[in-house]
Amino acid sequence: MIATPDQRLDALRGPAPRMHHNARTLAALENNPRCMLRAVLDASGSDKAAIAAHTGYQAPFGQSSFALARGNVFETMVKANGCAELLRVLRETLQLTLPEVGYQDLNDVGGDGRAESRHARTTHLLTAAARGHGSDTLYDHPMLRLVVGGHPVFLEPDLVAFRVDDRFHVVEIKSFPIVDDQAAPAQVRAATTHACAYIIALRAMLAASGIGPESVSDTIVLIAPKDFTNRPTGAFVDARKQVATLTRQLERIQRIGDLVELLPEGLTFDLAADDTGRPQRPAQELAEALDQVPATYYPECLNHCEMAFYCRSRARADGSLDVLGSAVREQLGGVDTVTMALGLARGTLTPNDDQVEMAVALRHAARLRVELHNSPGAAGAAS
Ligand code: SF4
Repeated sequence: MIATPDQRLDALRGPAPRMHHNARTLAALENNPRCMLRAVLDASGSDKAAIAAHTGYQAPFGQSSFALARGNVFETMVKANGCAELLRVLRETLQLTLPEVGYQDLNDVGGDGRAESRHARTTHLLTAAARGHGSDTLYDHPMLRLVVGGHPVFLEPDLVAFRVDDRFHVVEIKSFPIVDDQAAPAQVRAATTHACAYIIALRAMLAASGIGPESVSDTIVLIAPKDFTNRPTGAFVDARKQVATLTRQLERIQRIGDLVELLPEGLTFDLAADDTGRPQRPAQELAEALDQVPATYYPECLNHCEMAFYCRSRARADGSLDVLGSAVREQLGGVDTVTMALGLARGTLTPNDDQVEMAVALRHAARLRVELHNSPGAAGAAS
């Protein structure tokens, strides 16, 4: 009997409980859209952290407890007294006209904190607001839901959605500083990729009631500490491109059956855990299974994927230039591996017609490196 895509995905995961997507895992899809290994691990609900750990490549992943605590303190301060500080930033810093403000706390529904109840309440209030009913402007911790690969995912935005000029806007409150109106691009990108998942979920929720996507802005409001103080400031971030990329990735998950068909028959990432949850599968056998699925490692994986240390080691063993990042890969057009680049630089490899210019540049760079290394200043610095 031919297995359905869902049965194949279940077999990939084995009997372990399915890991569900969250805003972070959805955002990671946008970060490395070409990676097939990540796509099948996520679609099968496999536990990437456990798999990485069992192969010996556990990644210290996630925010430090210090950063989390700092983030929570800052968020609480911004949201205190019905989001008074947030309103100040929206009005004074971002010059938004918010004449009257109604605040809705959606952390629970009359003491009921279940995701389903909160989602129903969120849907009711935001749909009514989109239709022009009600006077609420700020919605604290709305509970959103997306169907990803046929499985419902609850997304609890660590955010406020606010409504101005008949459009909802997603607010992300982050604790990294905005210094002289600039924030670290990598941190801004990480923050906005999470918000993109919320924008898509909000649009999906409203679409179910026949309300168009234009009712949710794809400009994100970023709230963060000003300079090195605790005083919040704000900035608009245009997330159109990221929303479009993530939307395409979510559509790709719907077609995961096409990818799964390409995998070898009988492939599984099952850890064969015993009654105590301890994996019994030989680590080498698991690694061999993982190696049968193409992965597109690049250094940014270290910021968003539990498999990063494993995939980096694999890419190094393959001699892939991807370990050096996309900028280096682009610079070394026509050169496929680190071994090839070193061979051309040392003159031990004869370049083909397409590599002649690159070989000259690499040999020149190698000469400069040797000269620098042998210069008196370098010797003095080293001693
Ligand atoms: S770390 Fe590995 S599995 Fe994760 S996205 Fe990067 S290449 Fe893919």
